[in-house]
Amino acid sequence: MWLLQIAFIEPYYEQYRLSEIEKVNSEIAYRVVDSAIELDSTELSNVVGREMMCVDIMNDTARTLVNSDNLGSTCVIDGISKPALLQFINNAKEAPRNEFSIKFTNNNTNQGMYLMVRGVMVAEDEYVYIFTNAPLEMVDSTVYVLRRQFGLLTLLVFSVATIVSLLLSRRLSYPISNMTKSAKKLATGNYDIAFEGEGYEEVIELSETLNYATSEFQKTDELRRDLVANVSHDIKTPLTMIKAYAEMIQDISGEKPTLREEHLNVILEETNHLERLVNDMLTLSKYESNAYTINLEKYRLSNQVNNTIGLFKGLDINFDVSVGKDIFVYADEVKMGQVLYNYINNASKYVGDDKLILIKAEVVGNTVKVSVTDNGPGIDPEILPYIWDRYYKVGKNFSRNHSNSGLGLSIVKAICIANNSEYGVQSELGEGSSFFYTVPLAINNNKKR
Ligand code: ADP
Repeated sequence: MWLLQIAFIEPYYEQYRLSEIEKVNSEIAYRVVDSAIELDSTELSNVVGREMMCVDIMNDTARTLVNSDNLGSTCVIDGISKPALLQFINNAKEAPRNEFSIKFTNNNTNQGMYLMVRGVMVAEDEYVYIFTNAPLEMVDSTVYVLRRQFGLLTLLVFSVATIVSLLLSRRLSYPISNMTKSAKKLATGNYDIAFEGEGYEEVIELSETLNYATSEFQKTDELRRDLVANVSHDIKTPLTMIKAYAEMIQDISGEKPTLREEHLNVILEETNHLERLVNDMLTLSKYESNAYTINLEKYRLSNQVNNTIGLFKGLDINFDVSVGKDIFVYADEVKMGQVLYNYINNASKYVGDDKLILIKAEVVGNTVKVSVTDNGPGIDPEILPYIWDRYYKVGKNFSRNHSNSGLGLSIVKAICIANNSEYGVQSELGEGSSFFYTVPLAINNNKKR
């Protein structure tokens, strides 16, 4: 608006004035022809209306026939000498369309002016000349007031816009630069930072996402550290033992067969433990990476239970099996056999004084729930949620038990997740534990294998 007012208003106004003058002039010419000169001043004034111009209609001797003046003293026509008027008339006569015009500056008012002379034929060889004079510049003081106001307004709008945009950009950039600082700290492994987003919803959302990502990083980092600590602890201890006993054989018991036998047994036991640990680690990573195929087949559940129990023959344990002989399931026999084995293996380690392990199969709808129950020490409710985590026992207690790798239940969990089986435990301290898993019932259950 300001630019329009300051830069383009003059040419625009001039153009407007010229077209107005042209219009009035044409209208007068038409009336003059129509009334055959008999145009009176009232009619002329009506045509001119309130336009800022003065009009003189003269004959070819430059005598005024009728005139209308809205300009008063600034009208230049009255001040033009007769010869000059005749010269103008002559110019109009010779011009195409009998029209002649000039632009000039009024010396008294310093105002741009326009003078137009137009010859109109009113009878055979009889012409009248319409002199029209109008200023081409605005004189109105409101224009200057408006210009000033526009200038001030522009300044005001510009300042307000600058302040508002500064505030807005600060509101936007402040939390983002804060978050950038936090992200740099996070990159150095400092997880005790919080991303504080404020202001815009998107920024708040971003900070929440970053906080979530930080907590996940933290968990992964803890897991990684635990894993390294646990694995190295579990491998280092047997290795130390093996080394120590090998040295003892070398230095002391090499020549003493009984002692040597004893030391060799320790070495063997430690080696077995290492082997078990490495095997379990391989099994778990295989199941967790899903790098194996699931072979679904129909098999008799009681056969699998009996075969698995057979593996614990040498132990002083009684098994109470209540698995219907006619229950056929449709699952991966080898993998589910591993789940059953791990459950029974644990139950045999934590078996109660009664030395009894109960194995039960219940058909619930289309699935069979297999449970392995012992009357052993049970599990502390506080640690119950963690027993499925890898290295749980070894990780938290660092107690050494040669038959434990701390991976048994993690393997169960990985297999059950991969096979869409449910798994879980019910346990009470001092009462015993009951672990279970589910397998789908074979559709045609009666068909014998
Ligand atoms: P581990 O090799 O240590 O037995 P698991 O993953 O098989 O590793 O078991 C994790 C932990 O769950 C065990 O260390 C033990 O504390 C607990 N747990 C598993 N089975 C039983 C059970 N039948 N009775 C009591 N505690 C058990």
